[in-house]
Amino acid sequence: MAQEVRGVIAPGKDEPVRIETIVVPDPGPGEAVVKIQACGVCHTDLHYKQGGISDDYPFLLGHEAAGVVESVGAGVTDVAPGDFVILNWRAVCGSCRACLRGRPWYCFDTHNAEQKMTLASTGQELSPALGIGAFAEKTLVAAGQCTKVDPAVPAEVAGLLGCGVMAGIGAALNTGNVTRGDTVAVIGCGGVGDAAIAGAHLAGASKVIAVDIDARKLETARGMGATHTVNSRETDPVEAIRELTGGFGADVVIEAVGRPETYRQAFYARDLAGTVVLVGVPTPEMKLELPLLDVFGRGGSLKSSWYGDCLPSRDFPMLVDLHLQGRLDLGKFVTETIRLDEVEQAFDRMHAGDVLRSVVVL
Ligand SMILES: [Zn+2]
Ligand SMILES: [Zn+2]
Repeated sequence: MAQEVRGVIAPGKDEPVRIETIVVPDPGPGEAVVKIQACGVCHTDLHYKQGGISDDYPFLLGHEAAGVVESVGAGVTDVAPGDFVILNWRAVCGSCRACLRGRPWYCFDTHNAEQKMTLASTGQELSPALGIGAFAEKTLVAAGQCTKVDPAVPAEVAGLLGCGVMAGIGAALNTGNVTRGDTVAVIGCGGVGDAAIAGAHLAGASKVIAVDIDARKLETARGMGATHTVNSRETDPVEAIRELTGGFGADVVIEAVGRPETYRQAFYARDLAGTVVLVGVPTPEMKLELPLLDVFGRGGSLKSSWYGDCLPSRDFPMLVDLHLQGRLDLGKFVTETIRLDEVEQAFDRMHAGDVLRSVVVL
């Protein structure tokens, strides 16, 4: 039987979010209903609300979530009711050209639940944020969006691996291939940038240089493992990074802002044959201009990182285990826990740069 639960809806462009009763259908073939325990507030949720992603209102917001599988549909074998899972927004298909070549983290045909959740009051179909919609007591997803992890990890910590924290850690580990002894610079120290710093630290980077225009964020970055900080409002970051790396530039520079000017900084702050990783998300009107001779002459690689090039089934359990062993403190990313009816205020605090992550606990 379909169930009615509470969920946070973005009803229209720039309208405040509100709690509504939503209808969650029973899981069909390949689907699962998950009882949400915690869900982080991400910039992407705010972008949905503001109309920056699409105008398929109403949106059911929330996508950095962990919870317990309540029921599964026909043919689901990877997860079962009672499993503690982290939700991901890239359930890989297993049969596209990337999957078939053994590179499922690039899957070009990821999928979500087929059935739609609806508003109880009007029957209107909801668009779940990133195919998840987890600012809700329960949500319907594709079973492949559920990754089972050790239930010893607190849900408010685990959920963050579903998006921003995974994107940052993966930008360093998977896309940047940061390894022992590397010098790394991270431009932009929000949640994703801080996670990239934590990832570089975890990988054994010899120097991790954090760059931001906000002194408070640089302080937080130190706690994540940054060995040096550069305030790019006061100092030219390219010069500063070169100075801190023997005059050469960093082996890997991670751009976690997503703007042409910070990308250019990343491009010139890396050593010859170094790597730039773009994990910050640009907007459609942005254009990048670089001398092509510099692109050639400086060698190395310019990469983009989708969701940290993560494979949830490989990376989520591993990072949870490292957290439980005390080798990667994911708890540092949780600034505050809030109730389901406090998402709107959490957007304001996030916009003001006051929090790394507010996490809704249900
Ligand atoms: Zn695929
Ligand atoms: Zn997110």
